[in-house]
Formats: sequence, C-alpha cells, structure tokens
Amino acid sequence: MSYVIATPELSSVAVAGGIRRFPVRRIYCVGRNYAEHAREMGGDPDREPPFFFAKPADAVVPSGSKIPFPPGTQNLHHEIELVVALGGEGAGVAPDNALDLVYGYAVGIDLTRRDLQGALREKGRPWELGKGFDKSAPIGLLYPASAIGHPSKGRIWLNVNDEPRQDGDIADLVWSVPELLSTLSRYFTLRPGDLIFTGTPAGVGPIQPGDKLNGGVDGLGEIEVYIG
Ligand code: MN
Repeated sequence: MSYVIATPELSSVAVAGGIRRFPVRRIYCVGRNYAEHAREMGGDPDREPPFFFAKPADAVVPSGSKIPFPPGTQNLHHEIELVVALGGEGAGVAPDNALDLVYGYAVGIDLTRRDLQGALREKGRPWELGKGFDKSAPIGLLYPASAIGHPSKGRIWLNVNDEPRQDGDIADLVWSVPELLSTLSRYFTLRPGDLIFTGTPAGVGPIQPGDKLNGGVDGLGEIEVYIG
C-alpha cells in the first residue's frame, strides 16, 4: 500500500518487563465514576448510568514526559485514573465475560482543560476541546493481566510537586471495569488496542507551568510528568 502523505506514527504504550509495545487504537474515557468526585463536580453521587467521551489515540504520552502547558486554557486539571487496555474484541459483551477482553492495566492521567469543559457542558456542546487535546493522556507502563490478574482494589493517588492532591481506592469505582466494558460494548465494538480511562477519585485541581505530577495505583507502578 502506498499513501499520498507520510503515514502517521502509530501510538503505543510500553509494557512492563518486556520490549514489545501495546499499539493504541482508541481511547475511551468515563466521566464521574467515583462518588466523591461526582459530588465535587456538582453532580449526583448516585449510580446514574456511566457516560463516555473519547480522546484521540495520539494523545498518549509516556511517563517522564515534559508536557507543554496546553493553549486555550486558564485552568488545566489533573485526573489520576486506572487505565484498562484491551487485547480482545467484543460487542454486546456480558459483564461476566468482559474481563476476557482485557490485556492489562496501567495508571494514566486524564489532563483536562476544566474551564473549557465546563463552558462546553453548560452549552450542551461536545467535550473535545476540554478533553481531547495534544498530549492529554499520559500513561505509565502497562502490566499484563496474565502477570498481575485483574485488580479490583488498591490505592490510587496523585501528588503535585510532592504535595498530596488525590488519594482514593479503585474499589470505590461506581461502575466496575466489567460493567464499564459491558456498557461501552453496547455502543461500540471493542477491539484490541483500545484503552479505557476509568474515571478519577476526588481531589482534582489546577496545575501550573513548572509543576511535577506523580501518581500511581497499587501494583501498577507510578507515573511522573512535568508541565512545561
Ligand atoms: Mn477523567
């Protein structure tokens, strides 16, 4: 096959303990999936159905990156999240079978232009400008489920300049990983290479140029990025 322009580089994520990488096809994200965070965002902490948005695959950047402060915002926020990486394909998947699709897990940060997201939400407009910008999806090493299993509890945390900002537990996900995958698979055929950011615990807040962000999920290592 030949193309009329240079082919875009394939986004990928490093896999722990190996040299082969995980290719990224799509990035789905879940909103308000911890009750305390739903409250801090002015929402209903009850179990309303999950809702989804997306980021472009090339928003992925590795741990250790220096991320330029994105243009067009006065209020850039951090959201530390458990990320699920899919190695299988499925549509209309039952929750009981959903984990069969999972290749592995990582820790990621859903960087957010909170001011734009809020303004867009008020007007009922799409969230891409607030969520889907360049380098908005830092992600740490990917840990294969074949090695670590399927984590359902464990601390999830993020510090800014070594000061604690977010500290939760993935056991407090409003919608579990199997439930999220099952719901998402009713709207999209899930395929190998898909990443799902599963939502953030309470404590989101603004970050400035020069800040260092580091965070982690128990058993999934840590992530560290710098805001340029
Ligand atoms: Mn998020």
